[in-house]
Amino acid sequence: MNKTRSRKPADPAAEFVPSLQAADVLKQLHFNPAEGLIWLEGRRMVLLHAESLGALRQEFILSVGMEATRGLLTRFGYSAGCRDAELALKMQPPGTSVDRLLISGGYFHALQGIVSPPTVVSQNLDIEKGICFIDFYWKNSYEDQLHIEAFGVGFSPACWMEVGYASGFLSTCVGRRILVREVECRAMGADVCRCIARPVEDWPDAELDLAYFEPRPFRMSAPALLERPEAPSVPSRQESASKPGERRGVIGASVSFNNVMHKVQRVAPTTATVLLLGESGVGKSAFAREIQRKSTRSDKPFLELNCAAIPEQLMEAELFGAERGAYTGAGEARRGRFHVADGGTLFLDEISSLPMTAQGKLLRVIQTGEFEPLGSTVTRRVDVRIIAAANENLWAAVGEGRFRQDLYYRLNVFPIQIPPLRERRDDIPLLLEHLLRKYSERYGRRIPGVTAQALQILLNYRWPGNVRELENVIERGVILGEDDQPLGYHQLVTVDSEMGAHVPMAPNEQGLLAERRDFHLESVSMEAAQEAEALALWAEGIVARSNVSLSEVENTLVKAAFRAAQGNFTHAAGLLGMTRAQLAYRVKKMEEEGPPP
Ligand SMILES: [Zn+2]
Repeated sequence: MNKTRSRKPADPAAEFVPSLQAADVLKQLHFNPAEGLIWLEGRRMVLLHAESLGALRQEFILSVGMEATRGLLTRFGYSAGCRDAELALKMQPPGTSVDRLLISGGYFHALQGIVSPPTVVSQNLDIEKGICFIDFYWKNSYEDQLHIEAFGVGFSPACWMEVGYASGFLSTCVGRRILVREVECRAMGADVCRCIARPVEDWPDAELDLAYFEPRPFRMSAPALLERPEAPSVPSRQESASKPGERRGVIGASVSFNNVMHKVQRVAPTTATVLLLGESGVGKSAFAREIQRKSTRSDKPFLELNCAAIPEQLMEAELFGAERGAYTGAGEARRGRFHVADGGTLFLDEISSLPMTAQGKLLRVIQTGEFEPLGSTVTRRVDVRIIAAANENLWAAVGEGRFRQDLYYRLNVFPIQIPPLRERRDDIPLLLEHLLRKYSERYGRRIPGVTAQALQILLNYRWPGNVRELENVIERGVILGEDDQPLGYHQLVTVDSEMGAHVPMAPNEQGLLAERRDFHLESVSMEAAQEAEALALWAEGIVARSNVSLSEVENTLVKAAFRAAQGNFTHAAGLLGMTRAQLAYRVKKMEEEGPPP
């Protein structure tokens, strides 16, 4: 159990000075009614009627039930909390300690008209030692007001979005999963809403709250109104068997992650073939295991094969088995992966590397469940669910004649795109916490966390190698780290690491990040560098895959610019960075050359 400081009656206002004041946050809000835009520090915001939000909330509850709506709104709030934490981290004056930043989150939410800024009753914070305990309350929550108007006072808290928001804000600032629980709410008859924030593992029954952070399929069949609002969703025996806060399977809470998990939940219990797509290192294997874990085959074998790792001539024997003497070196008969995986799931990674002959055989197994081992005439029948994965465009491979079109359609029944880590940055604190624990255990270290400065670097880096790269960085950091000391910049960023070159903010003499203004410039140049890199990759792809000429590429760009500009000459020229006259010359030349042969 966590040792927390007891509540003390000291004047909280004197002690807990937030790093940002309401006025600082207000300064970042810009209205542009002429264009229909509201900006909060460069992010678009929307002003809505609380009343209509209330109607939406009520309709959700009536159609999908109290529990499912609570989950939806908790995750909605979590995402907003992560967004505002990013702003707060950018806006904080240099030298601000994280504990002062934490309380600032409330000002963003207050500015948005959601709830009053929080009042801290007591707190025990030492972020770098991994200690986080905040006992606070808020007033004027719009959500419990709507709830009371619709459902009256009951036995359950109703500030679902606010709780999600506070969890997302704190998790992003602290760099580990912080769970906020509303222990008293106006919707339960209290005067104010009282909350406790602690790391997940400090809650003995965290699963109760975590259930709302994970997307679950709606139970549309059960009449939503019969669901008793006061009954919390109790995790199954199997789920609660794990240690509190300990996560099994894939980890995340971001919007992109939840979108993927919705699809996983849908497809897992079926026998459909699944195609996982995404960049290298995004964790396709982990998602494949998650599908198996949530399927009816979870107690059956799960086999994994990287098609790029097996020599072409051995692939068929590997997949389908071989009779004795079927090929050179096949001394004994051997069982193939399909045979061993019978009744279970076979995960085929880098499927585009599969040789043509094996592709034909694979297609047949998928269609009929039948195959013959190499050198055998006896047909075998198996029941194997296929999950395939590719980190390149499979359709392009079909176009190049490297991949069978019929197999492509068979595999593409249920494609799931796994987003790159840079598109699910909200998951970085959760992944970070998990990886620190994993490698601390493996190497017998006691690493409590990372410094505030290191956390910002991790949150802002582009992660071209995705989760795998993050994992490598943390593993190396834990090896280099000292017991009971948070990992710092120098343990995470090594001299030869690309991370050093991409770090958007450099540490100053106090070991803190440079001013926000600098960060802005740096982050713009980082985006420019990313764009240049994307352009280079695109060009490499074109050069490698076709024999187009330079003028064809240029002409294609000109045509694309005209389409984007809807035929407007000046606008198209602007998109291409040319003058109108230059573009006119270019178009004239194109017309003279005529269409390519
Ligand atoms: Zn409340």
